[in-house]
Amino acid sequence: MIWFMFKGIFQGLIDLIYPKICLVCRTKLKSTGSVDNLVCPECWSKIKRNAPPFCSSCGRHLEKPLRNICTSCIKKPLHFDRAVSPCIYEGAIKDLIHEFKYRNKDYLGVTLSRLILDFIDEYNLKMDFFDFFIPIPLHRARLREREFNQADILAKQIALKLNKVLLPDALLRRRNNRSQTNLEDKERFNNVKEIFSINKNVLIKGKNILLIDDVLTSGATCSEAARTLKNAGANIVFALTLAN
Ligand SMILES: [Zn+2]
Ligand SMILES: [Zn+2]
Repeated sequence: MIWFMFKGIFQGLIDLIYPKICLVCRTKLKSTGSVDNLVCPECWSKIKRNAPPFCSSCGRHLEKPLRNICTSCIKKPLHFDRAVSPCIYEGAIKDLIHEFKYRNKDYLGVTLSRLILDFIDEYNLKMDFFDFFIPIPLHRARLREREFNQADILAKQIALKLNKVLLPDALLRRRNNRSQTNLEDKERFNNVKEIFSINKNVLIKGKNILLIDDVLTSGATCSEAARTLKNAGANIVFALTLAN
């Protein structure tokens, strides 16, 4: 009891000295109503949700749906069977993913994974279909630098909530390719060519696999991972990302 009182007073003092601020708009968070004490409700509500009709390949919202596939997927077919994302990669979610990945806020993974879980619920995505989940791996040099793999954290949360098997070491990153940021789409596909290999201890043949990553932009990384898995005999490969 005394400990809890002490803890309460101590936390109160900490909040007074370092008031919690919203990770998007940087205003002071109120004691109630914020999302996990990290984001103010206004910024959270501004996260742009991806809505149907979706491209049957990359999963982006189709503006003028003449066909069920977007022009960029017609021009450059992707190797996964389908990708899905709950959010559109701009504004608040872009800021939050940046904080998550580059500002050492691994704890944001719990909050952000809820957007994915809500989306799975809302669209009744059949997760039973998948034999296991595989997060897109980082190269070990990049992992050392960042200390965590953001895809791993998201995948772990989702697998835990849905009671699915997670195989974080099934795919290996052979080459520490340069970052995809600031590359043109065409360069992105070249940049990831043959960067993945399969862990020989994992049976991929005939399996239905869900790849998990934080963002899908050109789709090059997930596509290359799917190509590698399909070459190893995978049956169906979907890609699930937080935003696209
Ligand atoms: Zn805010
Ligand atoms: Zn598309």
